[in-house]
Amino acid sequence: MPKNIGLGIEAPKESCNDNNCPFHGSLRVRGRQFTGVVKSAKMHRTATVEWTRVAQIPKYERYEKKRSKLKAHNPKCINAAEGDVVRIIGCRPLSKTKNFVIIEKIGREKLFKEKMEAEEESKAKEWKKETEEAEEQEGKEEAEE
Ligand SMILES: [Zn+2]
Repeated sequence: MPKNIGLGIEAPKESCNDNNCPFHGSLRVRGRQFTGVVKSAKMHRTATVEWTRVAQIPKYERYEKKRSKLKAHNPKCINAAEGDVVRIIGCRPLSKTKNFVIIEKIGREKLFKEKMEAEEESKAKEWKKETEEAEEQEGKEEAEE
């Protein structure tokens, strides 16, 4: 029988024997809650969750979009995949960098794959630009000598 963790969240249909599962184990949840997208679920029962937030810049009286990213425990019964929108909540530290746990799968982010690909591409472009600039700089230095 899954445990009721409160917050009006229903336990997942599947069961698991993970002791660090808030529904089927002994892990207690508390603290802050966030909703984000799973960026990576490659680590063992760990997911990287990212979401955007808006931060004010007082000097310019404008707002800036910032990204927050953290690691969360991914219990077997939830088994969130990359691109899933999940709700996470604080818990006791499970490892050096992990003190959140996924408690609910809300849905899928639309066009997640496309977004990731675009991000990769822009990273590659930036890197290419930097190397090209560095090469140019080197060329100039050589010409001056
Ligand atoms: Zn479970």
